[in-house]
Order: sequence, then C-alpha cells, then structure tokens
Amino acid sequence: MTTIHRQVHCEWCCEDLDHASTGRAKRFCSTRCRVAYSRAMKRHAAVCVEAALAGQPEPPRDFGQPVKIRAYEIDGAGNVTKRARPGGER
Ligand SMILES: [Zn+2]
Repeated sequence: MTTIHRQVHCEWCCEDLDHASTGRAKRFCSTRCRVAYSRAMKRHAAVCVEAALAGQPEPPRDFGQPVKIRAYEIDGAGNVTKRARPGGER
C-alpha cells in the first residue's frame, strides 16, 4: 500500500479531481480550467507589476480556489482510494 498526497479539487472550478495511481499530480480537472487559470494568473501578474511600479502594495488574488490536499492510498492493483481522515475534512 502506497500513500500519495493530492489535491482534492480543481483549483479553477472546484470540481472533484480523480487521481490515477501513476503520473503527475493533477491540479485541474481539465485543460480548459488549466488554461483559464494560467490566463487569470498572467493578468494578475501584470496588475501586480503595475502596482509595484506605482509603489502600491500587491493586490489580492480574486480568482481560483483554495488548495485542499488529502491522502490517497494505492493498493497493489493500482486502485486509488481516498483515505478517511478521522475528524473529517480540514
Ligand atoms: Zn476545473
């Protein structure tokens, strides 16, 4: 049994993420969400640069979802199960 830690929700739309037992950790449910997030992040970066040049504090981020991480267990057959956390969600 192997335990991995992965995000519970898509960072853009908050959709539940399904995790495969192999490959890279997912942050988004789809390419569409990944692209939308990276566009918003670029826009935000440009706003931050302008604020910095004007001597103002960095503006807050008003997009995306807070990241939640949960442990997943992989058995010998490659099945992934969410591990029940005593005390419920954080
Ligand atoms: Zn999504």
